[in-house]
Amino acid sequence: MKPTVFFSRAASLWIIPAALLCWFVAELNAAEPTPARTALVRVADLDVGEAQEVELANRESVRVKLLSVDETRDAMRDAVRRALVRVEINGRSLVLTSATYHLPLSFAGMQIDCPVTKGCVGNSSEGNAWGLLKDARLRLWPAGSPWIEQGTFVYPLKQRWFASHTQMANEPTFVDGGESPSAKKIYYHYGLDSGGAEGMVEIVAAAAGRVIAAGKATLPGYDDSPVQARYDVVYLLDERGWYHRYSHLQTIDPAVRPGAQVGLGQKVGVLGKEGGSGGWSHLHYDITSRQPSGLWGIQEGYAFLWETYQRQYAPKIMAVARPHQFVATGEKVVLDGTKSWSASGKFARYDWTFTDGTTASGPTVERSYAESGEYSEILKVTDSRGEVGYDFAMVVVIDKAAPDRLPPTIHPAFAPTMNVRAGDPVTFKVRTFRTTAGDETWDFGDGSGKVKVKSDGNVNSLAKDGYAVTQHRFAKPGHYLVRVERTNEHGQKAIGHLHVPVETAASGAGK
Ligand SMILES: [Zn+2]
Repeated sequence: MKPTVFFSRAASLWIIPAALLCWFVAELNAAEPTPARTALVRVADLDVGEAQEVELANRESVRVKLLSVDETRDAMRDAVRRALVRVEINGRSLVLTSATYHLPLSFAGMQIDCPVTKGCVGNSSEGNAWGLLKDARLRLWPAGSPWIEQGTFVYPLKQRWFASHTQMANEPTFVDGGESPSAKKIYYHYGLDSGGAEGMVEIVAAAAGRVIAAGKATLPGYDDSPVQARYDVVYLLDERGWYHRYSHLQTIDPAVRPGAQVGLGQKVGVLGKEGGSGGWSHLHYDITSRQPSGLWGIQEGYAFLWETYQRQYAPKIMAVARPHQFVATGEKVVLDGTKSWSASGKFARYDWTFTDGTTASGPTVERSYAESGEYSEILKVTDSRGEVGYDFAMVVVIDKAAPDRLPPTIHPAFAPTMNVRAGDPVTFKVRTFRTTAGDETWDFGDGSGKVKVKSDGNVNSLAKDGYAVTQHRFAKPGHYLVRVERTNEHGQKAIGHLHVPVETAASGAGK
C-alpha cells in the first residue's frame, strides 16, 4: 500500500525550507547549490554505543542507537561477507543484515536499512568510497514510505531483473576473475553492477538531471564533486544534489552532452565493457551524495532499483539466491533463498538443483565442495498461487591445497531478455576469465544439441570480439534454464546459468 496523498503533502512541506535555505546558501557555494528536492531517505552514521535523534521525511522524530556491529569474514581473503548490525529504535532492538541484497525493514513505526559497515572501508582497494568515518551507516524512512520518490526514478536498464550476473553494493567483485586469496586488499563493490549482453541493452537515465560529464567532456565549475571523467562514463546531477554515474558504456547517446538537461528515462547510451570493467559487459551504476561525514559517498541504490523495477514491470515473483559465495574446498556454505519475493506474500516451495545433479528443498541449504571451480546452483521458488521464479547462487570454490590455482569464472548474458516469443532469435554471449584453455559449451535446456563456442579468455579485456556469440530460437513457450560451462587445463570448471522465459508466439507473426 502506497500512501501517495500523504507523501505529496510531506514533499510540499520540504520545498519551503529548501527554497529558503537555497537563498541563504547560494552565495556561499556556487558550485553546490542547495538541492531543489530533498530525498525521502535520512542517513545516520554511528559508532557503537552512539545514539542520534533523526527527523524522518514526514517530520516524525526517532531515536536510533547503534548497539553492535558483527562482521563475518571469509577464511581465505579476510573479506567481510556478512555484517549483522544491532540497533535500538525508540527503545526497541532489531538486528539488520547489511546490504548483500537485503532490503529496508519495517520496524517500530519506521523503515531502516544498513548499507555499509566499517569493515568494507577498512581493507578496501577502493578507499573510502562510502565516505563512512563511523562504525556503520543506517538509513531511515517513515513507515509505509517509498524508498525513492515515485515519478523521480526509473530502472536504468531496459532489461529483465537479474537477467545476468550482478555485483550489488559492497559485494566483493568476482565476475571478471578478480577475486583471489592472494589479493589482500578487497575490491568491495560500491555501486550496482548489472551484467548484460554487450551492445544490446539500452541504458536510460534513472533520474532526470544535468549532464556534468559525458566521456571526457565536462561542465566547468564542478571541481568539488565526485566527477572523474572517463571516455565511457556519464555523470548526471539530479535535483536532490545526487550524482548518478553510468559506467562502461559502449556508446554514449549524442544528446548527452555537458550542460544538457536529461529527462527521466531518456537514453544515456548502450551497455558495454569499456573502461575499468575488468572485461565483463555490464552497467556500473552508482549514486554519490553528501554523507553525514561531510564527504562525498555512495548512496546505496539496490533498494531503489528493486522498488522501481516492481513499479515499472509489476513482476509476480522475484527469486533471489545472491550474493555469490567464496569458499575453500571442504568448507561449509549456506545458500539462501529467503530474500526472494512474491506478490502473493507466500511461498509454497524453495527447490534447489545442484551442479552434481542432486537436489534439495527449503529456503536455505548447506553445501560443501570437494573440487574447486565456479558453480551456479539453481534456485526455483514457487508461491502459493503457483507462480515460479528462478535465480542462481554462484559459488566460487578455491582448492585449499593449491589456493593459487584459481578456477576460471564465466559470464553469460543474452538479449532480448523481455517479451521473447517462441521462434524469436535470441543472442547469447559468453566470456570466460582466467583461462584460454578449452571452450564454452552451451546447453539451451530445450533438448536441442549442445553448441560449442570459444571466447578469448579475457587476454585483452577491452577486445571488441572478447565475447563468443551464438544465436538460438526456442520453439515452444516455457521457462528455459540455459547452462554454459568451460573447463581449464587443470580440469577446473566454471558454470553459468541464464533463465530465459519464452512466451507464446504472436498469432500469425511467423517469425
Ligand atoms: Zn561496477
